[in-house]
Amino acid sequence: MNPREIIKKAGFLLDLIPTKLLIGATNKKILLPFYHAVSNEKLHHIDNLYSSRNVELFIEDLEFFCKYFKAITIDELYQIIVDNKKISQPVFHLTFDDGLREVYTVIAPILAKKGIPATFFVNTDFIDNKSLFFRYKISLIIDRINKNADSELLNKLALLFEIQDNSLKTIVCEIEQLQFSDLDLINEIGALLNIDFKAFLSKVQPYLNTKEINELKDKGFTFGSHSLNHPLFKNLNFEEQKRQISESFSFLSKQFGCKNKYFSFPFSDDKVRNNLFKWMYDVEKCRLTFGISGLKRDANKFHLHRIQMENNFDSAEKIVKTEYLYYILKIALFKNKIKRYD
Ligand SMILES: [Zn+2]
Repeated sequence: MNPREIIKKAGFLLDLIPTKLLIGATNKKILLPFYHAVSNEKLHHIDNLYSSRNVELFIEDLEFFCKYFKAITIDELYQIIVDNKKISQPVFHLTFDDGLREVYTVIAPILAKKGIPATFFVNTDFIDNKSLFFRYKISLIIDRINKNADSELLNKLALLFEIQDNSLKTIVCEIEQLQFSDLDLINEIGALLNIDFKAFLSKVQPYLNTKEINELKDKGFTFGSHSLNHPLFKNLNFEEQKRQISESFSFLSKQFGCKNKYFSFPFSDDKVRNNLFKWMYDVEKCRLTFGISGLKRDANKFHLHRIQMENNFDSAEKIVKTEYLYYILKIALFKNKIKRYD
């Protein structure tokens, strides 16, 4: 069981310890929660991947953040980091990855009403619904199989995967593990199930479009890059890593006039080396970069870690307190800082 799960099991401890005490004890005064979508509707392209929050739960999250932390913009966050500012009042900044339409239809109106700033990290290849992230294809495939999988179809899929076991569970498990490099197979399975990904893109329009991004920018929200098409960075060579970063930033600058560069790593920053970080800050002039390791320090001062809010439907209070307790445990084990290699 992972340490966060063990801490959560000791729920009475979480209830007993006040949030303020945890912030004071760790001196971690910057909170960076991150999300993708918020919706009361079913999102078939997402629902099989992680637990998106509904509007009610999202508003409860915001109330919790605002009770203990002051909302700041990403430029203010950058100033705190670059100046090594001592901050008396704890602060938070919200970020949302993948540039989904719900940012415009659901999230931004709630945040604007409450005066909470946010940054949206977009994959520039997906803006205007030009193409669909392979993980969303996987979610759509699982959705279809769960709804109508007859034995003939399961047999065909087992053949494709070259496995004997044609049970629904095993087939779904195989599909969940497909990677970007399996795109041809993902498209083949989609065709087998009569899923038209292009039609899905034009009908559902899961991503933000140019007009929406311009409107959100005018309202004061910030946009950052989440790469061109969401690859796992540790699988890319150095040149391709740099291309994913610099081309997506040029696009954001040309199309939307985004001057200050902020980047969140798609999937994970696991095994991303120092040479890339150094290039990002020194050459590409990236101000801040973001990972998803919860409350954790990084060898690179300008690389900040965020807390995932969509692993379950727990309250923000429970998720955040669990992170603080876990951080204390990591300090005790000297594991509260991520090392990077050249
Ligand atoms: Zn992402």
